[in-house]
Amino acid sequence: MTLQMQENVPLAPLTTFKIGGPAKYFVEAHSEDEIKEALAVARDKSMPAIRMGGGSNVLVPDEGLNAFVVFISLTDFKLNGNVLEAGAGCNLLTLIKEASQAGLGGWEKLAGIPGTIGGAVRGNAGAFGTEIKDFPVKIRALHSVTAEIKEFQNAGCDFAYRHSFFKDNPEWIITNITIELQTANREDGIRLIEETIAERERRHLQNVQAAGSYFMNPVAPAEVVAIFEKEKGMKAREGRVPAGWLIEKAGMKGAKVGGAIASLQHPNYIVNEGGATARDVKELAEKIKHEVRQQFGIQLAEEAVVLVV
Ligand SMILES: Cc1cc2nc3c(=O)[nH]c(=O)nc-3n(C[C@H](O)[C@H](O)[C@H](O)COP(=O)(O)OP(=O)(O)OC[C@H]3O[C@@H](n4cnc5c(N)ncnc54)[C@H](O)[C@@H]3O)c2cc1C
Repeated sequence: MTLQMQENVPLAPLTTFKIGGPAKYFVEAHSEDEIKEALAVARDKSMPAIRMGGGSNVLVPDEGLNAFVVFISLTDFKLNGNVLEAGAGCNLLTLIKEASQAGLGGWEKLAGIPGTIGGAVRGNAGAFGTEIKDFPVKIRALHSVTAEIKEFQNAGCDFAYRHSFFKDNPEWIITNITIELQTANREDGIRLIEETIAERERRHLQNVQAAGSYFMNPVAPAEVVAIFEKEKGMKAREGRVPAGWLIEKAGMKGAKVGGAIASLQHPNYIVNEGGATARDVKELAEKIKHEVRQQFGIQLAEEAVVLVV
């Protein structure tokens, strides 16, 4: 057995929220075989298995997880012509930079989204009008119960705003992604990456103890869309209004519970100001949902994943 299984591993340092208790069992899987092996051990121990990538979109409960946490660490990648084949555990920004160095691009606006490419594909991560869904041609995944390996074509992944087949079907673990990129000028690509990250920093979207946007942008009633469009002088995309705008309108910008705050710069970020517990975050999230529902009749839905067993 090649697996290095550990017990009572603190998970907070492995998440961007820096919140939560330990994993009862923890394993770093570097290959499909190691994932299969880890799942088999979890089954032997009658433990639920939970997979984790970069930890940038999850909230770990304060009491930890009485589970077998499988950290997806498949980090090999190769470039062949304009095709990039990457293990699901590759850091997204690293891949964007490497592709750019090789004169390939098209996805530079995704630079700075923390986490792995596997996590990004699962949630169809996006920024500044670009979504990851437009790049994969093939996604390889492993079924956590049957150990079946299947290759999904892009059209079979049911991609939509912050959604994919893999979000609805968590028994599938993404292991490998094949991406087609465009030929791009190397210097222009690198500049675009730097500008994108600088813009994210300017908007306080980077380097905070949070999980990014806590709620998805909801589809809103026509009258709310009209207020948004008039106030901001821009069209709402797909009938959605920004959750951060609603949170501010509902008077919840800057609202706090314990060490958790609805960010003053970006109210849809719930930020751990220091010492926040998962309970604080969840309580604040409930208060925000309540106010938005009361004032606009809109039910916000979490984008961040609260891990449970
Ligand atoms: C400061 C900050 C800024 C952010 N900005 C953005 C942004 O601009 N746009 C955006 O879309 N998101 C943003 N996010 C959220 C987050 O970075 C993305 O959702 C990211 O794609 C999550 O990837 P991850 O590897 O960290 O996933 P994790 O947080 O580890 O996991 C998220 C979910 O995906 C599942 N998962 C992870 N790996 C796999 C896999 N291989 N197969 C199947 N399921 C898997 C996990 O089980 C979990 O349910 C931001 C987060 C932070 C902290």
